[in-house]
Amino acid sequence: MTEKNEIMEKIVSLCKRRGFIFQGSEIYGGLAGIYDFGPRGVELLNNIKKSWWKANVYDKENYYGLDSGMFKHPKTWEASGHLGGFSDPLSECKNCNTRIRVDKELAKIGVEADEKMTEKVLNELFDQNRDKIKCPTCGKKDFSSVRAFNLLVKSNLGDFTSSGSEPVYLPGEACQGIYLNYKNIVSSMNPKIPFGVAQIGKVFRNEISPRNFLFRTREFEQADTQLFIHPNQNKEPYEEIKKDRWKWYLSLGIDEKKLRFKQHENLVFYAKDAWDIEYEFPTGFDEVEGIHDRSDYDLSQHMKFSGVDLNYIDQETTEKYIPWILETSMGLGRVFLAVLCNAYYEDQMEGDTRVVLKLIPHLAPIKVAVFPLLKNKPELVAKAREVYVTLKKEFGAVVFDDNGNIGKRYRRQDEIGTPFCVTVDFETIEKEAGITLRDRDTGEQKRLQIDELIRHIKSILA
Ligand code: ATP
Repeated sequence: MTEKNEIMEKIVSLCKRRGFIFQGSEIYGGLAGIYDFGPRGVELLNNIKKSWWKANVYDKENYYGLDSGMFKHPKTWEASGHLGGFSDPLSECKNCNTRIRVDKELAKIGVEADEKMTEKVLNELFDQNRDKIKCPTCGKKDFSSVRAFNLLVKSNLGDFTSSGSEPVYLPGEACQGIYLNYKNIVSSMNPKIPFGVAQIGKVFRNEISPRNFLFRTREFEQADTQLFIHPNQNKEPYEEIKKDRWKWYLSLGIDEKKLRFKQHENLVFYAKDAWDIEYEFPTGFDEVEGIHDRSDYDLSQHMKFSGVDLNYIDQETTEKYIPWILETSMGLGRVFLAVLCNAYYEDQMEGDTRVVLKLIPHLAPIKVAVFPLLKNKPELVAKAREVYVTLKKEFGAVVFDDNGNIGKRYRRQDEIGTPFCVTVDFETIEKEAGITLRDRDTGEQKRLQIDELIRHIKSILA
């Protein structure tokens, strides 16, 4: 294992130890590709979502929020092309039955391949390189031929006869809910083109080999925006969206040197352009978000399959047209992981090596931790609890901790990225000298009265 992967292992272990992420169904041995967000994780996830919603709904004048149901009419996935073409190339080890995703295995040995290639082309590429690809489980090189494996997950919703004749699928991508509601949004909100719709939604994919922790899972959330624009007026807004999305990652405190844009070389037939934003994980650069110029494909397809007119009529010019769509689609699990990797540091403090998450205060799961200097002095504990209750009313995500010595308490909070640690000591009580506030990143401490402390924290979280 490389040093880089050791860092990933440390992050995975911290996530479990400190209540960020748990393996799904762990007590039953786990379920591949499924993870649960623990008490710290759900706070960080919600803070990322809030930041995204603010940037894509509140800070914009022409974007609307949406939360569509997960289940959709089966025709949705026929119209979108998912039933026919949403597949990954699969091959199986003949010795131990381990399944591999062929395009990713080819990419690992430097052969340009992706899931949009035909089965025939992928089989040819695979055959030319079979001698270089080993089974990740048993090490043999004896694989079946490549077949396209559809990633949609079926359900039996409403199928009381168990005939399975018209399965209702779990969403393979979140954005279909936006297309299905486009007409409702136009008639209820009367938006003028260009206008956008933003939505966060669950997605399920039968990934052949879930891997890299939260990076490739079978259940995840996508945060999507779709901007509806006049046909052919795509170039300028597309560039603006790219800039805007880049800025959002910087606003999360992500190191700009660890981000890059990558243009798709192999476009689907209807796409005008497509770029990914990639983050440099400890395992290398990989996609966190796709930005796609999709022409009028989505609405035209749904118009064809539903028979409902999805033309937009410009109220001023009476011009009638099917809007084109510019899409951003981000995986929340991948961004969560990028934020953690970006914030993870091991440094020296007070003669110790410590692990610290240097999360920006807005994202930190806990904003303030309050400690009495000593657990066995009732007057310190009582004052610390009073401070805790006051701060909890102001900031919500505040904890009280009197467990272990003060150094250990600091280390625990460092590991979850708490920006403000407040200690009540004898001077607080005897001299009314206020509390001490310790800075997570430098370890420096200063004394503040409670009202000063509240103003200070508010100014940073504003
Ligand atoms: P990949 O090539 O990595 O499979 P994709 O190009 O199929 O991803 P999209 O369908 O464009 O991804 O989905 C948009 C976003 O959803 C991706 O940028 C990624 O952040 C996230 N995503 C896609 N598949 C997964 C997955 N299996 N687990 C977690 N996040 C995912």
